[in-house]
Amino acid sequence: MFHAFLVKYGEIGVKGKNRYVFEDALIARIKHVLYPVEGTFQVTKDQGRVYVEAVGVFDYEETVAALQRVFGVVGICPVVKIPNQDIEGLQKEVLSYMHQMYENATKSFKVHTRRVNKRYALNSMEVSAAIGEKILQEFPGLRVDVHEPELILHIELRNYICIYSEILPGPGGMPLGTNGRSMLLLSGGIDSPVAGYMVAKRGVCIDAVYFHAPPYTSERAKQKVVDLAKKVARYTGAIRLHVINFAEIQMYIYDTCPHDELTILMRRYMMRIAEKIAMDTGCLALITGESIGQVASQTVQSIAATNDVCTLPVFRPLIAFDKEDIVTIAKKIDTYETSILPYEDCCTTFVAKHPVTKPRVDVIRRSEEALMGQIEEMVERALAEDEVIEIR
Ligand code: ATP
Ligand code: MG
Repeated sequence: MFHAFLVKYGEIGVKGKNRYVFEDALIARIKHVLYPVEGTFQVTKDQGRVYVEAVGVFDYEETVAALQRVFGVVGICPVVKIPNQDIEGLQKEVLSYMHQMYENATKSFKVHTRRVNKRYALNSMEVSAAIGEKILQEFPGLRVDVHEPELILHIELRNYICIYSEILPGPGGMPLGTNGRSMLLLSGGIDSPVAGYMVAKRGVCIDAVYFHAPPYTSERAKQKVVDLAKKVARYTGAIRLHVINFAEIQMYIYDTCPHDELTILMRRYMMRIAEKIAMDTGCLALITGESIGQVASQTVQSIAATNDVCTLPVFRPLIAFDKEDIVTIAKKIDTYETSILPYEDCCTTFVAKHPVTKPRVDVIRRSEEALMGQIEEMVERALAEDEVIEIR
């Protein structure tokens, strides 16, 4: 019965003069996600509202699912959109809507009318009353409760009229592309895909870098990261995934430095390389999936030691999250099942039995000096051999 959706957006409504920038970004994103969905759609904005209207046959479920992946969308209301008409005509339309939606329902309800078209003959209170009365006559199971109704029937009087009562939740956040671009350090684990999702939800476009260490890490480990990037891209739009061969650097650190510092030293080189790619590609920040205390390399001291090499801001959206809460989001965005596949990433291959948990930055810097003279060239080589995979 529905051919149109009213798309409700939250925060972007309050951005003053820049509002149109946000609305246009939202509309561009909606068009983009609807592109592969069966049907032809018109996406329009009108007086602070965004509408999606299907022309002809379309896949309702797919349309809703696609809209539910658009950041900035707070709610999706399937609406019946009809031409402007007088109260008698409107009452008929509403009754037919109610029969289809709530035939034998027993519920409390109220009618909420918004009159944007001030030339409409009745004011909003009068419209609500006239419609409420008709509904009460025709539906014995329904009763009015204006304070805590189980069902709110919305009527919007504009140049046309919209009737709706369902609000399907959207993801919230801000439209993609309204907050620049950042570089996600994407491993095959549970955390980093969630971290990328969360930052993208604030309107940030995402690129990603994966540190691969063949032959210590397999092609399947790399494929797993590609698969994760595809899942994340359903929300974040296209991702350029940089695959960096980290094996030489990793081996060199392993051969040269104290093993209990290996993870921290590797993480410092990952951050340096990620930052270099970020700066070369117009990314304004780095993103990691770190969370305080989760593993030895994520104590506050370890994070400080890792952060020591960065000049760009590093976003760590999961910093204060418990694993359980991260898993909940991973399941919601459908990355969890891929993340738990058992292919090793390059951090797990050489982990020390007793890694330092409270590294001192000055000590770590000193250990690193042993690498100087050769490591620079290895970093250059890794960057030069950057394999870029376009994820759509
Ligand atoms: P994740 O679940 O994201 O793998 P983790 O709990 O395994 O995280 P670490 O291995 O300590 O944690 O990594 C911390 C963060 O460093 C990751 O969230 C990710 O952002 C980045 N990272 C770790 N390994 C890699 C890698 N091989 N390639 C790219 N980024 C990585
Ligand atoms: Mg990991």
